[in-house]
Amino acid sequence: MKENVFLGLGSNVGNRAAYLKKSADAIAGHKGIKLIKISSIYETEPWGIRDQESFLNNVLKIETDLTPSELLKFLKATEQSVGRTKRGKWLEREIDIDILFFGDLVYQSENLTVPHKEIQNRKFVLVPMNEIAPEFMHPVMMKTMKKMLTDTRDKSKVKPYKQRK
Ligand code: AMP
Repeated sequence: MKENVFLGLGSNVGNRAAYLKKSADAIAGHKGIKLIKISSIYETEPWGIRDQESFLNNVLKIETDLTPSELLKFLKATEQSVGRTKRGKWLEREIDIDILFFGDLVYQSENLTVPHKEIQNRKFVLVPMNEIAPEFMHPVMMKTMKKMLTDTRDKSKVKPYKQRK
């Protein structure tokens, strides 16, 4: 079955844009996944701890015949394989990949909550979601991405990222 599955990617260490690109390539390279759309990259001020580098974030729309737990397992392995190319230690996270939505599925298990719990509080998710799927409806909140972006209380700065040559 074809589902509108959305993934949120973020990086704040090292060559951030390269981590996003490598992750998207790895995801698109899985034979059970078809990459449908990819948002622009946005730069986001870090949450909480201020002395961190800012984040780069984007969102991918995919189609997949994997189950949610198979997809999560693959994404965790992708985080490891993409991140591990830079350093052996794990003090910082080169890449974080979240399942934002899995179609209209509402699902909760010990290690997976879909839709992702924090979407309404994260402009760095809502801005790219609004770019590629403004009319997509949150299956629990029953609001479009456009409406959720208008309504969010997150006031952090999320600006388009210009790739440096
Ligand atoms: P993180 O710190 O963002 O890498 O997330 C840590 C854990 O959150 C993962 O190992 C997952 O088991 C769990 N998790 C729960 N819901 C989700 C989701 N929708 N997408 C990704 N990870 C999730």
